[in-house]
Amino acid sequence: MPRPIQASIDLAALRNNLAVARRAAPHARTFAVIKANAYGHGLMRSARAFAAADGFAILEIDNAVRLREAGYRQPILLLEGVFDCHELRAAAEHGFACAIHDPEQLGLLKALPGGARIDVFVKLNTGMNRLGIVPRMLQGVMAALRAEAQVRSLTLMTHFACADDDRGIGEQWQRFGSATREYRLPCSAANSAAILRHPQAHGDWIRPGIMLYGASPFAGVSAAALGLLPAMTLTSQLIGLQELSPGDAVGYGATFVAQRPMRIGIVACGYADGYPRHAPTGTPVLVAGVRTGTLGRISMDMLCVDLTGIPQADRGSPVTLWGEGLPADEVASAAGTVSYELFCALAARVPVVERE
Ligand SMILES: *Cc1c(COP(=O)(O)O)cnc(C)c1O
Repeated sequence: MPRPIQASIDLAALRNNLAVARRAAPHARTFAVIKANAYGHGLMRSARAFAAADGFAILEIDNAVRLREAGYRQPILLLEGVFDCHELRAAAEHGFACAIHDPEQLGLLKALPGGARIDVFVKLNTGMNRLGIVPRMLQGVMAALRAEAQVRSLTLMTHFACADDDRGIGEQWQRFGSATREYRLPCSAANSAAILRHPQAHGDWIRPGIMLYGASPFAGVSAAALGLLPAMTLTSQLIGLQELSPGDAVGYGATFVAQRPMRIGIVACGYADGYPRHAPTGTPVLVAGVRTGTLGRISMDMLCVDLTGIPQADRGSPVTLWGEGLPADEVASAAGTVSYELFCALAARVPVVERE
C-alpha cells in the first residue's frame, strides 16, 4: 500500500460555493479567483468546476495561457498585470484583461503592435498601500490611458485591507468613490469578505477567492454558517502507535511530556506535506471520526496525536487533518495562520483525487 496521505477535492462543493458568491451579489459579474493553483485545489479542475463563472482572475500568465489553450473563452483578469512587454503582447494575443497598478506600466503599452487591443483594469491604492495608483495620480493616468489606441476598455479596481473585520471598508470605499466617480466606468472591488458583508461595494465585477474553496473570510464566523462547503479534505492514517509512561517525551525537542500513561498515534503527514510546522500541541485532528489533538512538534513526514478516549484507534485508522468534519479554519486558527495558507501549502507530493 502506498503512503496513505491524500487530498480529496470535492467538485460539487466548489460549484456550491461559487453559487453562494453569485447569489450574494446577484447584480455583479464574477471573476472566480484561481491564482496560486486555485488556492492549492488544482487550476484545471477548479476552472472546470467554476465554468459557470463569468470570468477568471489569476496571477500567473502561463496558467492563464493554459486556460485559453483548454478552450476557456471567458474574460481572464491578470491581477498583477504583466511584468514585461513580452507578457503584455501575450496578454493582448490571448485577450487577457490586465491590471495596471503603477504609472510606470503605461510605457509598456507602447510596445504593443499597432492593431493589438487590451482591456485594462486600473488598480487604485485606496489604503492597502501594497499595489495601486494613488488617487492624486489617477487623472494623469486616465488621460494617458484614454489617449492609447491599444486600450479597448477601462475598469477601475481596488482591494480592501480590512473587509473581514470590524474596521470594514468605509474609508477605502469612500476614497475609491471620490477618486473614480467622475469617470462613470465599471468597477471591481469586492473580495470574499466584501462580497458577504459589504454589498455597497459589489460593483460590476466581484472577485471571490477563499469562499469558493469553502473557508470563511471572517475570524468569528464559520464557513458552514455562510453556506460554504469544504472543498479540500486532507486525510491520512495512523501508521504507528506508542504507549507512553509518565515522563516520556514526544518528538523533536521533546516539547510534549506525558503526565500520565498515554496511548498516542503516529500519522503519515508532516510539514513536507503542507501541514503547518508551527501547529502547537492540541491542534485539532480527527482520528477514526473522533476529535483529538496533535502532540509535540510536527515533523517533516509525521505528526503525533493523542489517542486518549479513542481506544478503537489502531494502525490504519483514518485521520482527517482538515476538511470534511474538521474545518480548515479551525486548524489554521490553532496554528496561528489562515486557511489560505494551509490550502496553498499543500505539497506536490500529496496525491490528489477528485470527488463529484
Ligand atoms: C486574491 C485576491 C482576491 C481574492 O481574495 P479572497 O480574500 O480570497 O476572496 C481578490 N482580489 C485580488 C486583487 C486578489 O489578489
